[in-house]
Amino acid sequence: MSQRLNILEKDEPWYASGLNFKCTECGQCCTGSPGYTWVSDEEIIAMAAHLKLTIDEFSRKYLRKVGQRISLLEHSTTFNCVFLKDKKCQIYALRPKQCRTYPCWPQNLKSREDWENAAKYCEGINRDSTTVPYSKIQEQLDIQLKN
Ligand code: SF4
Ligand code: SF4
Repeated sequence: MSQRLNILEKDEPWYASGLNFKCTECGQCCTGSPGYTWVSDEEIIAMAAHLKLTIDEFSRKYLRKVGQRISLLEHSTTFNCVFLKDKKCQIYALRPKQCRTYPCWPQNLKSREDWENAAKYCEGINRDSTTVPYSKIQEQLDIQLKN
């Protein structure tokens, strides 16, 4: 029995008791150095419909092709996401999976130290007593890994 418990303990990730995070919608993760915000076909269709644009219109205005993938555009000098305005996401309810799952990304969950490093950038981490349960963290991580 004790051996089994040891195995379970070993398999448990460091964040098994949940993590303290609540998004303040500060917009910090929508800016910074150059990067990509990947979008799927379904997300493009939903965002275009929301903005009452055809897919072609939406693509010309907001998208770029990177290899075989499609990313939202970003400002050429500030590197702000094309949908960031006055530090707010203009399509928050329809933001892509990549945005929804932040900060539960693999690189931030590798260790407690990586999570604390992410907290230097994201003010929603360790902000108050809001705890994201383990099941939710895993769900977000799985979505991001498949993205
Ligand atoms: S940096 Fe963190 S708190 Fe700010 S918008 Fe992004 S996820 Fe939310
Ligand atoms: S789509 Fe919205 S949440 Fe995602 S990077 Fe752009 S502004 Fe930020």
